[in-house]
This record gives sequence, C-alpha cells and structure tokens, in this order.
Amino acid sequence: MRVFKFGGASVSSIDRIKQVAHILRNESDLLVVISAMGKTTNALEKVAEQFYAGNRDEALALFKQVKDQHINTAKYLLVTEYLACEQALINFFTEVEWLLYDKPVRHFDYYYDQIVCIGELLSTCIVSAFLNEEKISNKWIDVRDVFRTDDLFRDATIDWAFTQQKVDELVKPLLAQNRIVVTQGFIGATDENESTTLGREGSDYSAAIFANMLDADYQAIWKDVAGVMNADPKKYPNAELIPVLNYNEVIEMAYYGAQVIHPKTIKPLQNKGIPLYVKCFLDPSLPGTVIHNKPIPALPPIIVLKESQVLLHLKSKDFSFVGEHSVLQLYKLFEQLAFRPNLTQNGAISFTCCLDDRSEKLEQLALAAADFFDVTVEKGLRLLTIRHYVPEIIATLVAQQKIVLQQQTPETVQLVLH
Ligand code: ASP
Ligand code: MG
Repeated sequence: MRVFKFGGASVSSIDRIKQVAHILRNESDLLVVISAMGKTTNALEKVAEQFYAGNRDEALALFKQVKDQHINTAKYLLVTEYLACEQALINFFTEVEWLLYDKPVRHFDYYYDQIVCIGELLSTCIVSAFLNEEKISNKWIDVRDVFRTDDLFRDATIDWAFTQQKVDELVKPLLAQNRIVVTQGFIGATDENESTTLGREGSDYSAAIFANMLDADYQAIWKDVAGVMNADPKKYPNAELIPVLNYNEVIEMAYYGAQVIHPKTIKPLQNKGIPLYVKCFLDPSLPGTVIHNKPIPALPPIIVLKESQVLLHLKSKDFSFVGEHSVLQLYKLFEQLAFRPNLTQNGAISFTCCLDDRSEKLEQLALAAADFFDVTVEKGLRLLTIRHYVPEIIATLVAQQKIVLQQQTPETVQLVLH
C-alpha cells in the first residue's frame, strides 16, 4: 500500500481538486491524507483569535466566510453527492458555532485546536464526495478516531502505541475493503475526545505516521513545485531540481531552515526505510524527487536563506571567560523560552548567537541574559547557509553584502550578512 499527501495548495480551487481526482483515478490500496484548502488554516486562526479576544460577532463573520467558501466549492463540484456532503459540512460548522457562542474560559491553544481542526475535516469531506461523484470509490474517515495525542494543544504528541492499535483495528480493514481511504492531516484527539493539532504544516508528518504504521511501500507528497529544489526559486532563478536525496540531507536542510518538508516527517519513514517521493501534482508525469536511505550522487550546492535575523552579542561583565557555567545558563534560557539560536559562536569573553527576529522572545532573552552578560542586539541581518559549497558560489551569493559572521565546516558554510 502507499500513502499520498495533498497539501493545501493542491485543493485550493475547483480545478485543482479535479486534478487530485485525475491523479487518483486509477489508484487503489491507497491512503490519502489531505490538508485544509488553500489558506483556510490562516482564516480559522483569525476566527480563534477574535473569539478569544471576546469579539464574537467578528469571529462569527470571519467564520461565515470560511463556511461560504466551502459550500460554494461543494456546489461547484457536486451534483448527486451534494446534499449528503452539505449535511456533513453543516455538522462541522455547528460544532464550531456552538463553541463560538460560549465564553472562553480555558487556554487559547485549546480553542485554537477546536476551531482550526475543522479546516481539514471540511476539505476531506468535499474531496471524498467529489471522488465518489467521479466514481472513484473511497471511504472517508475522521482521523480523530485514530490519532490519539496528549493534550499539548497546538503541538500535540502522538501516542504511538494507542494509535498503532487503532490503525490495525480500524484503518487496515477499511483499506482491505475500499480502493482508497481519505483522511485528514495535521489533527488528532485526546483521550477525552478534544481535538488537537500537531503544529503548522503538520500534514506531511501525519502522512508519515500512517506510512510507518501501515508499512507503506512509499509515501508521496504532492506539491505545486517540480520536487525538492536546491534553493527557493522565488529568490534564486537558477534553482535546480534535486532528483535524489537521502533522509540525512533532508533533515539537515530542514534544520537550516529550508522549507521543504515538515522536519518531523523523516523519522517515521527512516525508521522503516520507507522512501518519500515529492511529486508535482500539476504534472504527475514529472519524476519529482525521491528521498531514501541509499547512497546518492553528489549534490549541487544547497542554499537556504533566512531573512529577519538578529545577532545577540553577549560579553562577560568582568573579563572572565565565558565558560560552561554561563553557557549552560544561556541554554537554559533558550529552552525556557523555546527560542533556539540558528547559529552560535563562543569566544574567550564573548558569546554571539543569531536568532529569528521575534521581538517578544528577544526582549525576554536579552533581559534575562543581562543578569550575567553585557548585551547588545544587532538587527536587520540575514543568515545564508550553503551546503556542499564551492568557493565561487560563496562569492556570488555574498556579492556586495557585508559579512558580519562566518562559520565553516568542510560541508556547510553559514554567513550572517548585513
Ligand atoms: N493545514 C495545516 C497548515 O496549513 C496543516 C498543513 O497544511 O500541513 O498548517
Ligand atoms: Mg499547507
């Protein structure tokens, strides 16, 4: 069997949903994981924010836009399946609306998950109904009956043993009886049936969990790009497709900030040696990228650029060495604030770290660090990482910019640029 994942961009319009059906037309023995349509998750985040701020009317008005959009999509796509699908959509709408009429008494993250999870439920209902309409028989399931998580809302952790049991009990028989099983990415539920989410962009990860638990032959992620590129084509017009990658390289790329695949996705696949294909849903005939565990050909330079960076310069107050003790204190702060530096450099009496420019966390960090360091903050920087670099490419990419900090290993160079 195989697991396919379609992201929000592949179900963002009528034509694209038709293209999904086209890809699935002759498939069987397949589990399909789908994200919320287009920017639905962002729209639902706004609903949750307004609700939590006490602006019920605003929350309801924003939610109405989400409702209308899904009903309209269903109307365009469906004829014989419309009424049944509409009823299913309305049931999900009602779940959220009940909540919106309440007053928030719990933590924001709890409400966030109860509201935002609806995006995936709506999109999968519509796609499943459309596949039926097209005579591509399939079975829709609510993944919240399968994926058990803890109650760390917005960043929930999967209970592997319980979920595996549900996969065996519920999902395997359905796969045996149906050509295709359609379900949601990104969401799960606690043992009290509260909805949870696995972190933004979490659908890749959901698909990988299924692939692991179902011992899939492979997983495919269908995207609106040709495959994994060696740089962001929007920033580097010469970006090229990488046809073959291994798990380690993808983990490294994600670590340095490449927005290729959700970083958690690789481990469940690596554990069982399941290959991952990144395919272009606009043109399924393109080969895409395969990611596996086998030896791979030499890679081109891989470029990751992170904008909006700051350098935090920390200097010991009394010319004493920056030793284990103060570095330990600092790492404790990183952990407490869940604010990880993208690069660090230790000197005799100084410590420098490059961080994302997130004002609130930065302020807290600088303030706490000021107890044992003199602190200065340098803003307006970018962090350029090049893996498998050659000297010429560094020169070309740095061009007129000032290098503020540089770190280099035989494999990777990182430059903080002004
Ligand atoms: N819909 C969710 C998001 O936009 C999850 C996903 O697309 O992977 O973050
Ligand atoms: Mg997405």
